[in-house]
Amino acid sequence: MPCPRVSIGAPTCEIDLDRDGKHHGYVRIPYSAHRSAYGWLPVPIMSIRNGEGPCVLLVGGNHGDEYEGISIFIDLFQKLEPGDITGQLIFMPAANAPAVYAGRRTSPLDHGGEGNLNRLFPGHKNGTPTETIAWFITNELIDRVDAIFDLHSAGSSSDHWPSCKIRLMGDEEKDAVQMEILNLFGAPLALVGDRVHETTLSGEALPKDIIYVSTELGGAGRITPWIRDLGDQGLKRCLKCLGVLPESFPTDPPKFKTRMMNMQNEENYIFAYEDGMFEPAVDVGDQVEDGQFAGYIWNLRQPWKEPTRLHFKKGGLVFTKRHPALCQVGDTLFFTLNDYEN
Ligand SMILES: [Zn+2]
Repeated sequence: MPCPRVSIGAPTCEIDLDRDGKHHGYVRIPYSAHRSAYGWLPVPIMSIRNGEGPCVLLVGGNHGDEYEGISIFIDLFQKLEPGDITGQLIFMPAANAPAVYAGRRTSPLDHGGEGNLNRLFPGHKNGTPTETIAWFITNELIDRVDAIFDLHSAGSSSDHWPSCKIRLMGDEEKDAVQMEILNLFGAPLALVGDRVHETTLSGEALPKDIIYVSTELGGAGRITPWIRDLGDQGLKRCLKCLGVLPESFPTDPPKFKTRMMNMQNEENYIFAYEDGMFEPAVDVGDQVEDGQFAGYIWNLRQPWKEPTRLHFKKGGLVFTKRHPALCQVGDTLFFTLNDYEN
């Protein structure tokens, strides 16, 4: 009888997620490379567990240049002890670790240097590094958790007005909890999602009836203190609501009355249809009208030409703005959001 054929690419987790206490280590992503033939890539994973109770997965660095969530989760892990919680918190603060260490949205190691974790779910067991990380989260973590907080920001190429987002599950009880979470998080904006996208973490979690909360906390590849602190307090209030942190855990009340918004549609966007220099006339957080002037694209190769004037098709709250000035055909320059209609 021949010996069995086994996986050479499957990730392994250095910590036992079923153990009580506070533990840290790496998810090892096998990576046989020129400089390290039998090496693996380290993806940090931490767990705080105190008996039975709700289990919450905290994901930062899904995109590697979105830093508020990374900061919030590292700080939370370092300050909490098992006796502070009921149930379990699993931390993956640098989920796409190769992207985080490169300071990039995407991993430089695969997919032509653009390995985008949140476009590669459910992943592959013996795939590229980014695909293997997605496979680990899908197959080793999602089934053990009751809720996921996946803290995003806009990344280097955009800026967002801070928001928290849920996707309706069609379960009255869980959707009531999710709507409460939106208010408790206390961001200026809350998005009530009516769809999930294939190949994303939300697309894997929602069909399994897991509460999935994401954010867009600022952006531009930096940490903005007031937005980071808003996310930190918002997360803690939500963890109290889910029963992981006790009611006595100190938190501030929300600073914003949250404005509920629908997800964006095609008519909310302004795209670049030429290469050039983007000059915005409005900022994130501004309220704009249908048809309002939005900015210019200047032609840097023929600077004697009149600039292209941009206008919003559909007004609303300016949620996203491109951050770098240089733009190319296909770039999103703005999108707006409109008030939530059930
Ligand atoms: Zn992101």
